[in-house]
Amino acid sequence: MAVKNTNWFSEILLKWYATQDRPMPWKGEKNPYRVWLSEIILQQTQVAQGWTYYEKFCAQYPSVFELAAAPEDEVLKLWEGLGYYSRARNLHATAKTIVSEYQGQFPSTYEEILTLKGVGPYTAAAISSFAFDLPRAVVDGNVYRVLSRLFGITEPIDSGAGKKTFATLADQLLDRADPARYNQAIIDFGATQCRPKLPLCDACPFQHQCKAFAEQSVEHYPVKAKKLKKRTRYFNYIVLGPPQQFIIQQRVEKDIWQRLYEFPLIESEGDLLSQEQLIAHPDLDDWLEAGARFQRVSKPFQQQLTHQKIIARFWEFHLSELSKTQKSEQILVDRQQRSKFAFPKIIDWYLQDKSLYLELL
Ligand code: SF4
Repeated sequence: MAVKNTNWFSEILLKWYATQDRPMPWKGEKNPYRVWLSEIILQQTQVAQGWTYYEKFCAQYPSVFELAAAPEDEVLKLWEGLGYYSRARNLHATAKTIVSEYQGQFPSTYEEILTLKGVGPYTAAAISSFAFDLPRAVVDGNVYRVLSRLFGITEPIDSGAGKKTFATLADQLLDRADPARYNQAIIDFGATQCRPKLPLCDACPFQHQCKAFAEQSVEHYPVKAKKLKKRTRYFNYIVLGPPQQFIIQQRVEKDIWQRLYEFPLIESEGDLLSQEQLIAHPDLDDWLEAGARFQRVSKPFQQQLTHQKIIARFWEFHLSELSKTQKSEQILVDRQQRSKFAFPKIIDWYLQDKSLYLELL
């Protein structure tokens, strides 16, 4: 799609932006380290939540050198609650790369920035424009929504051809004189005016140009080819140990929550295990033989991730003598020390809310 004479777009957009007051600590930031931090934190995160984490990271790691030197467990702990832990691991790996390969100087070209782990075209364009004023247009969910509605583009945003169309159009529309301001303006416009639900069309400066508005089909945009398939997984956690202690282990598989900590896990298909099924499970043999006694079971907890729903139940066992059964990857920790470890949210919920216990099943 070729759009001629696109100045009208940035003129209207920037005029709208001048009337907006949406302060955020990273707005206008020119330090590429801080811009990068904010962009990684804000991926898949609401601004209000990202704000706190951004401030925590800036305080604990004022420069890329401190972040690179930090132990990974500490970074994951600080990240706890934000989800998508691969972002935190990539953040840490990239900090190390910047120190080892770039002597701590953040790379300053789009192409180099794009080679960094955890940095895709959107983040590379954001860092290039915000920190270095390079003419790179951001294309995120906000931009897809605004452009698809305004120009009536029905190409799916998750198809190769669609992505190309939007990238080309976004590049044509970009205000090359002030790419940082323009990019921030279009992101804010998508977030606050042309919102996913209930966009503020009645007070929109693009009302006369907007195809979707003219066709009264705003809710049909943006078009997506595939619907996300969600999978449900069932986690039966074994909370085992002497009083005031339990054993935990790190998740090492290439799966959700990699390198976070959890209790020994038995994953089941189709449903959570019943008490009989659990007691008969071979993974429990060693512990039961060593004298583990079943205490109680929690209510089911549920956590929704982007592509998966996790349903978990926590089975508490008492076992005073662990030495014979404890595997090398398992750590015995005091309950009071649990805050030193980063756990998935669902485990935090269980640890914090123990008010509801089911009777023995
Ligand atoms: S008129 Fe509505 S749909 Fe069109 S750009 Fe404005 S807010 Fe978005």
